[in-house]
Amino acid sequence: MKLFKRTDTFNYQQQRICVTCASSFTGKYCGVCGEKVLEPGEKSFVDFLAGVVNAFTFLDGKFAKSFRLMLVRPGGFSKAFSYGIRQPYMKPVSLFFVANFIFFLFPFATSNTFSTPLKYQPNMQLYGKSAEELISAKVVADNISFDELAVLYQQQSNSLAKLLMVVMVVLFAIPLMILNYRKHLYLADHLYLSFEFNAFFIFVNMILLSTLVGILFLLPIKSAFINDVFFSRVFALTTFYFLLRAQSEFYAQRWWVAITKSIVLTFSLQYVFSAYKGILFYITMWTI
Ligand SMILES: [Zn+2]
Repeated sequence: MKLFKRTDTFNYQQQRICVTCASSFTGKYCGVCGEKVLEPGEKSFVDFLAGVVNAFTFLDGKFAKSFRLMLVRPGGFSKAFSYGIRQPYMKPVSLFFVANFIFFLFPFATSNTFSTPLKYQPNMQLYGKSAEELISAKVVADNISFDELAVLYQQQSNSLAKLLMVVMVVLFAIPLMILNYRKHLYLADHLYLSFEFNAFFIFVNMILLSTLVGILFLLPIKSAFINDVFFSRVFALTTFYFLLRAQSEFYAQRWWVAITKSIVLTFSLQYVFSAYKGILFYITMWTI
């Protein structure tokens, strides 16, 4: 978003000496270190204010362009970044952290989705059995009741859940890499897509749809439609949409391969979630 559009009066032919590295160059940017020429207008009060607003709201052109591309062409944003088209967009990692930041400011977006209460830990897939033993051992060792432990656990787990979101990114890169192994991409490429996917998941499911759910639950209308099962299906659908588009945009798969792989990926997500919750459980238990 540009606040004001000015005509470009910059002299591109003029020879300049870089103020940072002393190389000579023409144009707006130093060809050696990338420093930008400071233009007279940049110190005006309007530009200063625009800079302050951008620093706080992330509403500069890069955010809007990245966000739009992520929604209308999932995988296309990571693809552009991976291909080297980086100037018009944010880094996938920055988009992910902006999503995180906004998520934890939102009233309906509680961390409950990510941090499971202590009493449900023994029911979790992958690590439930071992969790049960660890909890019993901790109750004995620390000489506290289960209820006391559960309160301590919840506080610590809520704050760690936010910090550890990045673990989800690393975990989800694993099925992406396994399923698209034959594309001979770098690990970093799968991670870019995983950052984009997690940013999408937080923006669309955790912020937009969860806010909608929160508002619908507040309304006096009771409908058979509006329940948790319905919304978890909607979440699965948006996830599938992203992964299907990403399989063809990012990995350039044919449509029937893309459909098969995105079904497998959508299912693999629940194991990624369980692994994340397991890691969150153990780190929480070790730090209380
Ligand atoms: Zn320079």
